[in-house]
Amino acid sequence: MLNRSDNHNRKRRCDNCGKAGVIEKRITRVYGRGQNALVIENVPVIVCAQCGASYLEAKTLHEIERIKLHRKSLAKKKSLDVAAFAL
Ligand SMILES: [Zn+2]
Repeated sequence: MLNRSDNHNRKRRCDNCGKAGVIEKRITRVYGRGQNALVIENVPVIVCAQCGASYLEAKTLHEIERIKLHRKSLAKKKSLDVAAFAL
C-alpha cells in the first residue's frame, strides 16, 4: 500500500549503488544554447553521498519536457549574463 509519506521518504535509495542516503539538490539547468537557450531554475537533482552519482528522476524529466513544450506560456524573458568556460 502506498501512503502519502512515500513522497517525502528521506531514506530513499540510490538508483546507482542501492545505498540509502541520497539527497535532493535544486539546481539551474540550461537547455539549448544562444538565443534559443531555455533556463530552468530549481530543478531537483538527486545526489548520492555514497557513490557521487547525480541524476534526475523520471517525473523531473517529464516536467522538464512539459516546460520545454510550453515554454512560450511558462517562461519569462529575462536578460542574463552568460559566460563561457574558457579552459
Ligand atoms: Zn549511490
